[in-house]
Formats: sequence, structure tokens, C-alpha cells
Amino acid sequence: VTCADFKEQVAAYALGALEPDERRAFDEHLREGRHEGCLDELARMEATAQSLAESLPPVKPGAHVWKRIEERLGAEGLRASGGGGGRRWQVLSVLVAAAAMLVIWLLLKQKDELEERLADADSQRMLAQAEIREQQRLANECRTELAKAKVSDAQKQVLAVLERKGTQLAQLGAFTPDVQGLGGNIVVDPDRKLAYLVGNGFKPEPGKTYQLWVLPDLEHPVPAGLVQPEANGTAVASFDPSVLDQAKAFFAVSLEADPSDAKPEKILLAAAAPKTP
Ligand SMILES: [Zn+2]
Repeated sequence: VTCADFKEQVAAYALGALEPDERRAFDEHLREGRHEGCLDELARMEATAQSLAESLPPVKPGAHVWKRIEERLGAEGLRASGGGGGRRWQVLSVLVAAAAMLVIWLLLKQKDELEERLADADSQRMLAQAEIREQQRLANECRTELAKAKVSDAQKQVLAVLERKGTQLAQLGAFTPDVQGLGGNIVVDPDRKLAYLVGNGFKPEPGKTYQLWVLPDLEHPVPAGLVQPEANGTAVASFDPSVLDQAKAFFAVSLEADPSDAKPEKILLAAAAPKTP
């Protein structure tokens, strides 16, 4: 191996594209004492290879991305090395492959990121729309129930609140599995700090009273007023505004033999307090 030989193949040597016996011969050549610029050429080529490696972004792409790159590279590599033969073509094909890999990977990465962002935006929009639909459904449920109620102040107030922007609704659910045929919604007017029950299926229970509660947490229920259901089971009642700021966790409705004590006897329905936006 002469210095001219070495310099001609220096790119292949730096990129590790030589056959093992060729590589050994070039290694031996480098150990010789005198050169015509071999070491300079090698240093320059290694710096180029290094900067190419460093220009690859440090983020590790997913397995599927590498698989697609490899598939593309398989085709590119065959085309590049198939035509020429000889070392220059081999080196060139390695460089073309590296550059192609970089470009393809960046394109795939951008595409993946774009798809991810679109998917994110989509699911957030769908969640928001689902939430709006759910609130509209609850509001309509309330309007239907209120239409059955006798004309009262509470009924008129709730109908007005339902038309206000910013009104929040929460669906009441059975607190225990044995509670059946009973339901309703809590209507919250956060601006005026008012809340109402619009319930259905409230059968009159002789000797017992339905009672409203607000719960700052599960352990500390605060009584918030009584419910007088109508004969058809519709119940419209307003929560005591003076305790409403304590409705941080739940609203609840109970059935009481003695509504004057400070503990709910049997909680029938509960709703998580709507989060103030
Ligand atoms: Zn040399």
C-alpha cells in the first residue's frame, strides 16, 4: 500500500467500508514512519464522518421508524452500489445512504410529530364537544322535568339559570345500589353562587323528609335545605346559599326521619361538584 493508494481509499477507511484484510493492510501502512499527507487526509475524513454522525438528532426514534428507514435504505443502497462497482461507488453509497437516512428520518419524525399533534387536538376537541353535549343533555333533562312542575319561584329561577352562560350541571347518581327510580341533576350558577336540585321519581315517604347536603369532603356533610317533592315525583329545590361555598366535593340528597340532626340518615343520590372553570 502506497501513500497514493491510502489517500485514494481514505474515505472508505474512515467509514469502515473496507474488507478486513484491506483494513489490516491500511493499518500497517499508517504505522509506517513517513507519509505524503495520509494522516492529514485521514484526520479530515474522520472529522467529516464525525460531524455527519453529530448532525443526526439525538432523539431515539421508535422501532417502527427505524424499520421504515431500513426498508427505504435497502432499496437506495442496492441502487447506489449496483451501478458502478469499485471503491468510490461503495463509499459514495455509504454517504448517500447516511444522508438519505438523515433526510428520511427527519421527514418521518416531522410526520409523526404532526400526526401526534393532530391526534391530540382531535381528541381534545372531541372531549370538549362530548362535555358540551353532556351539559346540553342534562339541561334538557332539567327543562323537561321543570315543565312538569307546578309554577313556583324555584322553577322559574332554575329555568332562567339554565339559559345563562357559565351554568354548570352535574348528574345525580344512586349513592347505593338499592336506590332505584330516583334521579336528577344539580344546576349550579357559579356567578351568583346559587345551586338547585331538579329531581325526578321523588315519591312521598310518610314520616320522612328529603334533605339536601353539600360536602366539603366525604367525612363532613353540611345540611343545605329540604326538598318538597310534588305528587308526580318532580322535585325542585334550592340549596341554602349560605353553605354553598362548602360544596367543594359533592352535592347529595338524603332521606331523613329527623332532618334536624347534623348527619344524613340515608344518602340516596350524590353528584360530584362541577369544577369551576
Ligand atoms: Zn502514507
